Formats: sequence, structure tokens, C-alpha cells
Amino acid sequence: MSAKECVIPVFVPHLGCPHDCVFCNQRRISGSETPATAATVLQAIKQSAALPRSGAKRQLAFYGGSFTAIEASRQEELLAAAAAAAERGEIDSIRLSTRPDAIDGEALARLKRYSVETVELGAQSMDEDVLRRSGRGHTAADVVQAAKAVKAAGFRLILQMMTGLPGDSAERDVETAKKLIALHPDGVRIYPTVIVRDTALYDLWRAGKYREHTVEDAVAVCARLVPLFDEAGVPIIRLGLNPTEELSSGAAVGGAYHPALGELVRARVMRQKALGLLQGVEPGSAVTLGVRAEELSQMIGQRRENISFLCAALLLSELKVRSCAAEKGEIVILSVEKNGKV
Ligand code: SF4
Repeated sequence: MSAKECVIPVFVPHLGCPHDCVFCNQRRISGSETPATAATVLQAIKQSAALPRSGAKRQLAFYGGSFTAIEASRQEELLAAAAAAAERGEIDSIRLSTRPDAIDGEALARLKRYSVETVELGAQSMDEDVLRRSGRGHTAADVVQAAKAVKAAGFRLILQMMTGLPGDSAERDVETAKKLIALHPDGVRIYPTVIVRDTALYDLWRAGKYREHTVEDAVAVCARLVPLFDEAGVPIIRLGLNPTEELSSGAAVGGAYHPALGELVRARVMRQKALGLLQGVEPGSAVTLGVRAEELSQMIGQRRENISFLCAALLLSELKVRSCAAEKGEIVILSVEKNGKV
């Protein structure tokens, strides 16, 4: 999604889901209890029309269920309402999310008829053991097949993956990322696992059968995934669950729930880059690094965490960060001083 896109969300909580994935309670995650109807679609568009447009493209997004597994008549009702709004110029595009095993020729033909632009597939993992233990009810082969069909039919393809699921490991997450990149998506969303109340995962965790994927675990593994997607030119359009009032006020009981998770991960990526770049700098040196102005806070880290970490790890006497004309994601050594000598 570009910065010039404004999303109008319509939640279809759990509609069409043939399984209860262990981590999922969409009613709590989305904060929405009622299934959407045509009236919900029109209401969402009407409410968003009151917001200033500032030239942003308006995308209607059906979230939170398995759209193409919903009974066909309900899909038609929702899509017809959205497509009519698009014809009236009230929205610019339609997006929806669904399961990989709910994609076939008939489903895609229906989405085409109503001019859907983007299909998001919840892949979550490409590891069979993780998929099975997470109750997903589909295989990695289903993801491959569905992703290819979505692309071949001319839709924009967004893939979602999770980290820290039951049976998961950092290596398995890295493998999943590589397999998703090989499917050439137009973007990915990465959702580190959050333990939400009233889910099977919550029960597993309470019973000591699932080890929590902490914020630190998520930051560490995502800092390995982000460079893979960046290098492959696959935009990461979301990292971490969108904070909602429901999650923040107690539904998220553990796991990687943090309102600024994406920032924490980007800061960790910068820290790792700086660590590699400064290997060989003599202990006791005072170093000044340069990054783009908009990446200063990522380089410094929350509560100057990266500065403290790098000074301690490399025994630097001082580390300063300045803005400079660097490339996106690039770190430049502006100066290294030791005993007053440059
Ligand atoms: S993760 Fe997706 S498929 Fe699984 S229960 Fe939740 S909404 Fe349904």
C-alpha cells in the first residue's frame, strides 16, 4: 500500500472460516462482533467520506475472515455493494483477505466480476509441522497453488506470514520468508504471534504447552526477515498487529503485542548493520555515523538503545549519529577519532 492510500476496513469476523486457527479470535483482534452486510459496507464508506481526502486513493478492504469461503450469496452481496460504490467514484479499489485453500477458478472469477484489485492470502507459515500445530487446515502446497492462481488471474497478491507459532523457530520463519519471496508477491504482512484471550493458543500457553513469542523474540527474528524482503524488493506493508482498543485493554495477554513493533524491528536491523560496519574500529574510538534524516530515530533506537548497545559491544568512547545524504537504509561512517586523531 502506498502512503497515498486510505483504507476503509469492513470486518467479516470469522465468516467462512472452516477452522479455528489456534491463535485466532477475529472478534477480539478486529474489535468487531457483527458480520458485515451490504449495509455495513455502505455505512463504512459513508463514515470515511467525512474524513479529509487529501488526494489519497480510497481502498475498501474486507478483513478478518476467509472471504472466498463465505457462502457465495453473501460474497455477492458484499462485493456488489463495494463495486457499486466504486462505480459511483466513492472508492478507488477493493481488497480482501482469505485462506489459500479457499481459492479456485470460480472464486477468482467472482472477484474479477466485481473488480477486486488485491487478494491477500494468509499463508502464515510454509512449514507443514507449524501449519498442522497451528490448526490451519491447509498445506504449504495450497499456498503455492493459490498464490500462482491469484497472480495468473491478474490480481495484486499480498501474502501474510506469522512468526512464533506453535512448533516454529527462527530458522523455520526464515525458510517461510524465502518461500514466500519465491512466489513474487506484491507485498507482505508479517504478524508475530500474539496470545489473545479465548483462543486455543491461550489455553496451550496456560497449560505450559506453548512458549510465548515475546516482543524481543519477534524483534530478533523479524530483523532477519526484513532484509530478505528488502533485498528481494518485496514491500513490507505491515509488521505487527494493528493496535486496537480491545487488544490493548486486556485481550492481548502475551506474545509480541507492541504498538511500535515495526519501528523496533527497523531499529534492530540498523543496529546489526552498524555492528557489521564498525567491526575493526579500535576500542576507545569516538565514532560519528550518518544516515538519512528520516532514519535517525531507527539508528538511535528507542531510549537510545542502539547507541548504548554499540558502545558497549565495540568498547567505543562515544557514538554520535548525524543526518547525511545516504541511500535508504545505508549507514555511512562520517568520522572515527582516537586520542584526538581522526
Ligand atoms: S486466522 Fe484466518 S482462517 Fe484462521 S480462524 Fe482466523 S480468520 Fe479464520
